[in-house]
Amino acid sequence: MRTAIVVGAGIGGVTAAVALEQCGWQVTVLERAPELGEVGAGISVWPAALAVLDELGVEGVARAARLGSGAGMRRADGRWVVDASALGVELPVMIHRAELHRLISERLGSAVTIHTGTTVSGLTQDADGVTVLAGDTQYRAELVVAADGIRSVVRGLLYPQYKGARYSGYTAYRGIAEVETLDDGGETWGRGQRFGFAKLVDGRYYWYATANRPAGSESDDVRERFAGWHDPIPALIAGSSGVLRNDIYDLTTPLVPFVQGRVLLLGDAAHAMTPNLGRGACSAIEDAGALARVLRRGDELSAYDAERRPATTKLVKRSRQVGVVGQLDNPVLCALRDGVFGLGGKLAGLSARRRRSERAPAAQ
Ligand SMILES: Cc1cc2nc3c(=O)[nH]c(=O)nc-3n(C[C@H](O)[C@H](O)[C@H](O)COP(=O)(O)OP(=O)(O)OC[C@H]3O[C@@H](n4cnc5c(N)ncnc54)[C@H](O)[C@@H]3O)c2cc1C
Repeated sequence: MRTAIVVGAGIGGVTAAVALEQCGWQVTVLERAPELGEVGAGISVWPAALAVLDELGVEGVARAARLGSGAGMRRADGRWVVDASALGVELPVMIHRAELHRLISERLGSAVTIHTGTTVSGLTQDADGVTVLAGDTQYRAELVVAADGIRSVVRGLLYPQYKGARYSGYTAYRGIAEVETLDDGGETWGRGQRFGFAKLVDGRYYWYATANRPAGSESDDVRERFAGWHDPIPALIAGSSGVLRNDIYDLTTPLVPFVQGRVLLLGDAAHAMTPNLGRGACSAIEDAGALARVLRRGDELSAYDAERRPATTKLVKRSRQVGVVGQLDNPVLCALRDGVFGLGGKLAGLSARRRRSERAPAAQ
């Protein structure tokens, strides 16, 4: 049986392990954290990632997720700039991260061995395989998938000259709230701050927010920050038992290539992006899908790089650009932005209505 090591058991790592096992590989997963799991927040899963999960036989995501939450953009006073619900645009499903991670992990079979509390610190490769060092233990396999996140140790070992992650200029807050509201969700853009929320299938709400701040700032009171914003934003923050905070970084400089010899990088280790498009974890899942196709076809690993690098490089760039526009804080530029988006939304709404009426059967 062919052997692989997956470094990191986040959403990317566990999906890669499922994919490798289904291609007939024996897999060892090395995870630094003491146990498997994910943080308490929601996550959007877009159709392309859902299709990969489906291919891998990961069941229950659609059942555990909520389809098509409210979407669009509002001002801090609650007036809609763009109501995307009328546009007929593609929408993701929303699911709790821990639930997504659990559903994927449930597909791991007996050919996968997981070592938690195991931090990878070294790696060497030769013509026959790769040796991975974690503490005093050496692991050996034919292939290594580095899914060890934005601060990837494996990337640092393979690409010592690479610049690494760059701070975006803003920080993100996330929470899960238990509140009663009829509001379905969407995003609200203010000056240098944004707030978004979506309903989860169990009736709770996942919310996220951003604010321009220097990297590594002291924690602040997110309630105060969004105090004057439209309902139900203050109630959502107040109704959360804890708030996660992360400074937002991305791999601004594209990593080239994603494959070196018998080691390939996947997920945030290869192409960490800002969360503005909600596609980072989805891209990691799609990477795992691409890897499975490459292995099944018996192609060189360079085919994985050729497929995934151009697609993710574009997403990293687009996501950063959305963040720049979303985090504007100059009042004139914000008014201009909202005006342009509002006009664009109206035009898109008109053309969506025209498309719908063209598709509708003519009245008798
Ligand atoms: C605020 C915010 C909101 C987001 N929202 C979305 C969204 O809605 N939709 C979406 O698709 N994406 C979203 N993302 C992006 C998404 O969270 C990431 O892209 C995704 O989690 C990356 O998965 P990964 O498995 O590549 O890396 P990670 O989740 O970072 O996992 C890496 C794993 O490797 C382990 N590890 C690290 N170093 C070592 C080591 N040396 N040895 C062993 N193990 C190691 C870590 O413990 C971890 O378990 C969001 C991100 C943020 C910050």
